[in-house]
Amino acid sequence: MRTMQEIAQLVFPERCLGCHKLSSIICTNCIEQWRVSEFKVKYSELTVHSAILYTPVAAKIILAAKENGIANADKLLIQAITGQIQSTTHNLQNIRLVPIPSSKRSSRSRGRSFMVDIVQQISYLMGIPMLDCLELTGKTTDQTGLNRQQRLENMKGSMSMKAVARGELILIDDVITTGATLKEAARALNSQGFYAQISAITACVAQPLR
Ligand SMILES: [Zn+2]
Repeated sequence: MRTMQEIAQLVFPERCLGCHKLSSIICTNCIEQWRVSEFKVKYSELTVHSAILYTPVAAKIILAAKENGIANADKLLIQAITGQIQSTTHNLQNIRLVPIPSSKRSSRSRGRSFMVDIVQQISYLMGIPMLDCLELTGKTTDQTGLNRQQRLENMKGSMSMKAVARGELILIDDVITTGATLKEAARALNSQGFYAQISAITACVAQPLR
């Protein structure tokens, strides 16, 4: 499918991922809503750095990458996360990139485990090892309609370790909303007995829910 898309891009001019007008992969209007900056949110002991505000255009780009596997959208996401790793991490020596896992069902319907695939590409580009050590236990229910506290409760116990984690770990995800997913990932990583140094980087940051 990706090959068909690449062929199509050779034959047809590209369209903006934000508004579908003929342009480069993101047009001069929409780029206003995909401005790389530096956002930092602290969830008790976990610091999360994000590159971009979750604007309507950013939402479309993430959706295009996640649900439709559009290579250009992947590229924008990878750029945003890579830049954030470079600007927030001084010593890349002991770093391991830990992708947030997807459910088996969404991996099947998307044809890939989304963040694992994205982080694999980042790992290759930056020469930083990926540690795909988290898995979902299947304990979560749908997060829709839950407030922040309910989401945190709902996520608890939803992830576990499938491999041992050592070194300085950076959790990588596409968007942070309540922080519940990343907090649960950090909890799972620390549940193996010793405390790893953990931080997180996401491409986008959404306005927090109340
Ligand atoms: Zn546009």
